[in-house]
Amino acid sequence: MALLPVDEAKARILAGVAPLAAENVKLAEAAGRVLATAVTAARDQPPFPASAMDGYAVRGGDVAEVPVSLKVIGMAAAGHGFRGRVGRGEAVRIFTGAPMPRGADTVVIQENTAATATGAVTIRERPRPGQHVRQRALDFARGETLIAAGTRLSTRDLGLAAAANRALLRVRKKPLVAILATGDELVAPGRKPRADQIVSSNGQGLAALARHFGAEVRDLGIVRDDLGATVRAIKRAAGADILLTSGGASVGEHDFVLAALKRAGVTVDFWKIAMRPGKPFMYGRRKRQHVMGLPGNPVSALVCARLFLKPLLDALLGVGGDAAPTEARLATAIGANDGRQDYVRATLDVAADGGRLVRPFARQDSSMQRTFREAQCLIIRPPFAPEAPAGSLVPILILDF
Ligand code: AMP
Ligand code: MG
Repeated sequence: MALLPVDEAKARILAGVAPLAAENVKLAEAAGRVLATAVTAARDQPPFPASAMDGYAVRGGDVAEVPVSLKVIGMAAAGHGFRGRVGRGEAVRIFTGAPMPRGADTVVIQENTAATATGAVTIRERPRPGQHVRQRALDFARGETLIAAGTRLSTRDLGLAAAANRALLRVRKKPLVAILATGDELVAPGRKPRADQIVSSNGQGLAALARHFGAEVRDLGIVRDDLGATVRAIKRAAGADILLTSGGASVGEHDFVLAALKRAGVTVDFWKIAMRPGKPFMYGRRKRQHVMGLPGNPVSALVCARLFLKPLLDALLGVGGDAAPTEARLATAIGANDGRQDYVRATLDVAADGGRLVRPFARQDSSMQRTFREAQCLIIRPPFAPEAPAGSLVPILILDF
């Protein structure tokens, strides 16, 4: 079987994928969720002309010449409007957030006034007409679209939605991702491995990545390298939108995943792609379920998840796809590439000229999670890219998870 190019693999995974259904969530639970329906303002904000400062509400015409003394006829505070009307020669004591009293159009800040004992105030500096007044709907007007559908909700989105009086938000259901690690050598973190065993990290890394990009996770644990056991474990993923397996994806005598997927009813679309790390990646579907057979090496598994799972989650959540890769300048030369698209772990620094300088790690073994953790980006090396000398611009994918 020829190796499938990365872009083609991605296109085949995303073919025909539509966003999941929507549900309502309270604002307090909406962080990180993806809006299914735009947030529009249920009201004007502010809903009335309001004072932006502590001071006195006056008629602009009364304070054209200063100093001038005005009669203080009442008070307006936040939540306590003044019911009367400000007439010629009059002022109202006012505080930030209070509705402007009728008749008044300008606020003189307290610092530019002097209150007198006789219930008057002396205005010492001339304000600009309309100064320190927030007009009605300054922030937003009823009916305006404030946050577009497809937005992953940030903290600022939630504050704005609250101000717009939207206590419930309509968001996409979280895709459910079932995760199965395979391998006789694996024990769960926290357990004591035998001398010939290692600690399984893929389950944790993949779960964290899936959650980070908006999924809910069902951990199916670790299954030993046995066909029947793997088939049974795969069947436990029924109901999940996506099944991820890790390991057992190569051609060794202990690699049972491909056979197990087929036996469990998965129609395998492709196996093996033209990339490094991650060549043994496989993909198929079982009814509506997407199945990704990820390589066992932790860096390969996570790079494949970033490249293929993340776009699939985006599509199921209805968020826009990835932005195009950016570029950075190579700190050291990279040799010519072979037929596989390389994703090279690298650090990213700001160069003396303010540009971005990318420095690949010398060792790129796909078992090395520490360099993956320390990398800030992956340099993308297209198939058959010629040698890239130091100083040349190369495309990079920022590692933001
Ligand atoms: P495999 O694809 O099963 O041959 O695994 C390739 C390499 O990845 C082997 O060195 C495995 O020990 C390792 N590996 C597989 N699964 C995991 C896992 N869940 N956590 C850490 N390493 C793993
Ligand atoms: Mg294995």
